[in-house]
Amino acid sequence: MLRVIPLGGLGEIGLNMMVCEAADAMLVVDAGLMFPEDHMLGVDFVIPDMSFVRLNRHRLKGLVLTHAHEDHIGALPFLLKDLHVPVFGTAFTLGLVRQKLAEFEIPVPAGLHLITPGQPLALDPFRIDFIRVGHSVVDGVGLAIHTPEGLLVHTGDFKISPGAAGGMSTDLNAFARCGERGVLALMSDSTNIERDGATLPDAQIGETLARIAARSPGRIIVYLQLPAGSEVSIELVSELPDERVLIITTGSQGEPMSALARMAAGTHKQIKIKKGDTVVLSSKFIPGNERAITRIIDNLYRRGAEVVYEKISDVHASGHAFRDELRLMINLTRPRYFIPIHGEYRHLVLHGRLAQETGIDRERVLLVENGQVIEFENGAARLQGCVGTGRVLIDGKGVGDVGRAVLKERRMLSEEGFVAVTLAFDEATGIIVYGPEILSKGFVFETETGHLLQDAHCVVLEVVEELPPETPHRIDRIRTRLQTELRQYFFYTIGRRPVILPFVMEV
Ligand SMILES: [Zn+2]
Ligand SMILES: [Zn+2]
Repeated sequence: MLRVIPLGGLGEIGLNMMVCEAADAMLVVDAGLMFPEDHMLGVDFVIPDMSFVRLNRHRLKGLVLTHAHEDHIGALPFLLKDLHVPVFGTAFTLGLVRQKLAEFEIPVPAGLHLITPGQPLALDPFRIDFIRVGHSVVDGVGLAIHTPEGLLVHTGDFKISPGAAGGMSTDLNAFARCGERGVLALMSDSTNIERDGATLPDAQIGETLARIAARSPGRIIVYLQLPAGSEVSIELVSELPDERVLIITTGSQGEPMSALARMAAGTHKQIKIKKGDTVVLSSKFIPGNERAITRIIDNLYRRGAEVVYEKISDVHASGHAFRDELRLMINLTRPRYFIPIHGEYRHLVLHGRLAQETGIDRERVLLVENGQVIEFENGAARLQGCVGTGRVLIDGKGVGDVGRAVLKERRMLSEEGFVAVTLAFDEATGIIVYGPEILSKGFVFETETGHLLQDAHCVVLEVVEELPPETPHRIDRIRTRLQTELRQYFFYTIGRRPVILPFVMEV
């Protein structure tokens, strides 16, 4: 029996991770992260809950990586920290993985193993053929996983349009050969199912960029990969004639500390934007980053530059196949079962419908989400229960210690601020010996509405007066009353609900 279990990436963009099990052996494909959503205040990034893999570590034969994007390799340091498993990837992918593991100081005793398209890898009972795929990062592969129950094809992230960067276009013949051999199930990238037609070929982007470069009077600023050997140090830029200068910079997603953001704000040390400059953002506006990117574009225009970006020119080629390419993939592999992967839920649904249009029976389109177990036996598939999955939030060195409750507190603090009241009583007499001291953060601006805090002193003293020293459980009661009274006071006076932190003690 063969079991396929997605642990992340189905019903969301990011966290890609999938488990295959057969004959008491387990294989994992990818281990990716996700960048935090807006409500995850202070969270650095998110990884999938990998406890299922940990629990079954004795059966784990290897971890196979499709390509070097963070949503496929970003969770590796957290998995390899306490799990010794051989990792397989292409040269470029392993290069980035090596750097990432070094950064996290994670040793890999089981090793990083180089794979190349065309050279099969045996991880008994699995045999894996690696198939070249074109994508927005070089050296990506799809997987043809031979199992005792049949052939699984996992596309990885891919697009089909010819002329991919680095001569690494999708090997359609290899996928077609899988189709001829007979594919039990195809798992295919659903990211761009909503887009009709096909992706722009990388080569065409090159032509557009060359045209923009030719007609730009001054310097050009882009975010792009360039062949080695054509670079000069940034200090030399001012000595070169403007029309000989092309600057490659970070910041295509509006990242606040990136070089482009600093150039746009006029705070970059070496590069000052001026009239005649052309800035090319050869990138997609990733949802969530639009405001930050458009603000940078506005500022670049303010400084006199010409700005070229995806919405006004064909300067970006997506790395994920559009509908025509996705249809071609299904037609080439002619799978018995189709499992849409790598997408939010609507993407999976639409991709499933596309598969039906190509002639795959409705009941052979398996619309599954993270944790659902698909069992294959004698050529038939069924959904068979669930394993635990979920998201683990990473904040600094904390793994998973930030949960719903902490996020709620962060949200309250960030929206309303806090007011802290410190008050100390003499243990014997019950008389105030220190305070009340009132301190606030993120609540009111002291010089404008500081009198609110002054007046709050009276509220505190009234509470103390109402609860004389002989009151049972006096300190606790003062603490509780302070919270209610101050909350009410601030709400009536200024309509805000800061978090009240009473520090009341006996000394
Ligand atoms: Zn990717
Ligand atoms: Zn991806």
